[in-house]
Amino acid sequence: MKIALVGVGKIALDQHVPSLAASPDWELAATVSRQGRVSGVEAFTDMTEMLTARPDIRVVSLCLPPVPRFAYARAAIAAGRHVMLEKPPGATLSECHALADLARAAGVSLFATWHSREAAMVDAARAWLADKTVHKLHINWREDVRKWHPGQDWCFEPGGMGVFDPGINALSIMTKILPAPVHLVCAKLSFPENRQTPIAAELTFTDGVSAYFNWDHQGPEFWDIEVQTDAGTLTLHEGGARMVINGAEQGAAAGLQGEYPRLYNEMAELVATGGIDMDLSPLRHVADAFMLGERVTVPPFDW
Ligand code: NAP
Repeated sequence: MKIALVGVGKIALDQHVPSLAASPDWELAATVSRQGRVSGVEAFTDMTEMLTARPDIRVVSLCLPPVPRFAYARAAIAAGRHVMLEKPPGATLSECHALADLARAAGVSLFATWHSREAAMVDAARAWLADKTVHKLHINWREDVRKWHPGQDWCFEPGGMGVFDPGINALSIMTKILPAPVHLVCAKLSFPENRQTPIAAELTFTDGVSAYFNWDHQGPEFWDIEVQTDAGTLTLHEGGARMVINGAEQGAAAGLQGEYPRLYNEMAELVATGGIDMDLSPLRHVADAFMLGERVTVPPFDW
């Protein structure tokens, strides 16, 4: 299937372009980006122009930041294209619901991707936890925004979500592996005095679930989730790439593909079956944190 990539920036070049190049299902046939290009691929700077000029491209993958993404998604759906959305699927829950309604009405596929859910050990963690009683779950998610989003001021503008941009990856794993849903009861959000979104967050959910996110962390990343159960402790490390159960490292299934190749396999299946996959539960927790969170002002953040 021919596909167009929209928003050729960091994640498009790091992950989407190589995953598409390696896939037997997909041919990267066009890009839409004001400055970004992929060598050897037809480049448009305007979405409407691409949708009009290339009716043979039936699928569009949107790699823009969340705030500008809605208008592009709506235009693609209105033009009868199947749409794949980078995480988070939108800047608000309302716009995600609106896209799902539009996709259903247009009869096209829509996929809210959560790349961290495709990490090597996440399915195995979910399977192990399915028949356990969870006493406690704690997320420890710390990384350096300067390394992962160098100079990307949109992260700190309204709708950019701040530390929830990486934190939502942890929440996407949490909502996949927990046997029963939880909801947020309180939060503390640390806003740099010169920015519109938080750089750190402490979250408390029902049923012993908690999280700490920090985006101003120096040194090696912590992307860990520890789950205490009636059968002992399961820990996911490195964003779900590794799993330890009661002190024993667990091996990953043989031949497992990377996160983005797995997402593109799922998109190929959705298009083949006409499916819509819009699980918004990670975004719902983020929205709750912004609604319930206590605001703490911390020193200014500069790159
Ligand atoms: P980015 O490089 O800052 O932005 C991607 C591209 O979107 C830009 O190169 C730009 O291309 C276009 N764009 C930016 N603002 C725009 C606007 N206002 N209107 C139209 N186009 C705009 O961001 P990114 O790091 O790739 O992140 C994009 C999405 O991927 C985010 O939702 C993020 O959460 C997700 N993601 C990022 C990473 C990561 O490691 N960075 C990892 C996983 C997922 P043009 O200027 O050429 O139009």
